[in-house]
Amino acid sequence: MNKPELLAPAGSLEKAKVAFMYGADAVYAGTSKLSLRTRADMNSDTLKDTIEYAHSIGKKVYVALNIYAHDEDYDEIEKEVRRLDEIHADAIIASDVGVIEKIKEIAPNMEIHISTQANTVSLHSANFWAKYGARRVILARELNKENIKYIMENKSKDLEIEMFIHGAICFAYSGRCYLSKYLNGRCANLGDCAQSCRWQYNLTASEVNNPDSKINVDFDEKGTYIFSSKDMCLIAQIPTIIDMGIDSLKIEGRLKTDYYLATVVRSYRKAIDDYILLKEQNRENEYNKDKYLQELIKVKTRGLSEFYFSDSNNQDIHDFDGKSENLEYEYGAKIISKDSNMENVYIVEIRNKLSLKDNLEILVPNSIDTLKFNIEKLYDIKTNEEINTINPGVKGQQVKMYIPFEDLKENTIIRRKKGVK
Ligand code: SF4
Repeated sequence: MNKPELLAPAGSLEKAKVAFMYGADAVYAGTSKLSLRTRADMNSDTLKDTIEYAHSIGKKVYVALNIYAHDEDYDEIEKEVRRLDEIHADAIIASDVGVIEKIKEIAPNMEIHISTQANTVSLHSANFWAKYGARRVILARELNKENIKYIMENKSKDLEIEMFIHGAICFAYSGRCYLSKYLNGRCANLGDCAQSCRWQYNLTASEVNNPDSKINVDFDEKGTYIFSSKDMCLIAQIPTIIDMGIDSLKIEGRLKTDYYLATVVRSYRKAIDDYILLKEQNRENEYNKDKYLQELIKVKTRGLSEFYFSDSNNQDIHDFDGKSENLEYEYGAKIISKDSNMENVYIVEIRNKLSLKDNLEILVPNSIDTLKFNIEKLYDIKTNEEINTINPGVKGQQVKMYIPFEDLKENTIIRRKKGVK
């Protein structure tokens, strides 16, 4: 049976390491100017390091060059394509035919993945891209499972298909939107979306015969988040997606924290591996989404929906409250290394205030389980003096922590259960 690739976002080398450790087969990244995430912090050197690191452990890095380029962008595009060829990117993700032409001309052996920004919604378009030299098409999120199944059954044999399984849904047609540019001067099609659709708006109405009358149409006392979409979550559909033979399953979110990344990646890793194992044992009807879903809702979401994939008429797409769920957990810390002089003491980078007795959980890679413990001892990073509490005053604030488990690896993520001692 075809085992799909699990593809995760990587806004930095550190995030790529976390994604790989928690089960991603490949990551996608971009350089700041020319991908659709200008605020994702990969610069040229970290991208090179990320690719070298990935290749050293048998994983892949795809690089997004998916802006709709203006003529003045092309000098930069040419330089970037040459550089990505030199540093052995595994593929370039592009959407603009002008950019794709340049890739074919400058780096004829480079794999081309057609970005979701190209809005491929049909077999005809997928096959066009295959004939035009694409190795892979990333389908538009707007397709439902019947559309995708049809494409899988009829596409050119060599064309790989990638689809989104988790993350934000754009209110517009996969990023083809001018709202952010209009309201804020930041252009979504050049990778700088300010997510204006998620802002809070006041609606007003006027009486037809009295256009100057203004009546506020409030959803509640704060207004309404009329455009804000829920997040996609296809964990329940993993069996259907694997059975369709999709080549790559993509998680959205290059700007999300490494805590979010670890949680989402390991949940889908386990779901995919478990389903494949069950299928090999003819027990596929035992697949149960609940244990994975219980993990996924422990990180911030805007509410989860299968919207397009299951039924685009179901109206289950809007997050009118504009709030993330009321979370029980938050990012606690990340392990940097083990202290060489103190037994079971680790140097950790903290992300929220931590105090003695706090209830922490280690996210175990290759598992859906956690290792639970209460903080018994904290030590000042410089003086080794025992302390009771530590605040994340500066970015990268570190502390030494006694953790009653051996052999925890660098980049292991620890979450904190709120309000429980
Ligand atoms: S403002 Fe919203 S709808 Fe427009 S591109 Fe950004 S995320 Fe999509």
